[in-house]
Amino acid sequence: MVLSHGCNSQTPRKNMEQGKKHTYYSTTDTGKINITEEEWKKVLSPEQYYIARQKGTERPWTSRFESFHEIGTYHCAACGNPLFQSDTKFESGCGWPSFYKTISKGSIIYTPDNSHGMQRTEVQCGRCKAHLGHVFEDGPPPTGLRYCINGVILDFEKK
Ligand SMILES: [Zn+2]
Repeated sequence: MVLSHGCNSQTPRKNMEQGKKHTYYSTTDTGKINITEEEWKKVLSPEQYYIARQKGTERPWTSRFESFHEIGTYHCAACGNPLFQSDTKFESGCGWPSFYKTISKGSIIYTPDNSHGMQRTEVQCGRCKAHLGHVFEDGPPPTGLRYCINGVILDFEKK
């Protein structure tokens, strides 16, 4: 199951389909999701909605994934889309889960973000356009990239 780690693991066993959370959630379906904000509000938790749909940022050092080293795959918590593999996760010291490479080319969308007087690149889920975080060019080799991601919007699937 996806949420097998941590103290708040309310593993909903009623549905045997792996990772099934709401109608639009799928770890295998690659079809784009286009639903209203109202609908998102219904299917996401308030924290997830704040990050994913309102481009919020979780407080640093609060994610259970911040120092988390299990082997597996990280998915978009809003829609199930696979985003990162655990072997591309690294300790960035920035307070948010960090990765240097996405799982595949189309898994993430890049958008220039000039808010807060900074020039940054926002990263969104390629399937549902949930706001995930930002990517910076000060990461480790081989990519030199640092994907700084809100843990609230990540689901982990253990290998
Ligand atoms: Zn998504």
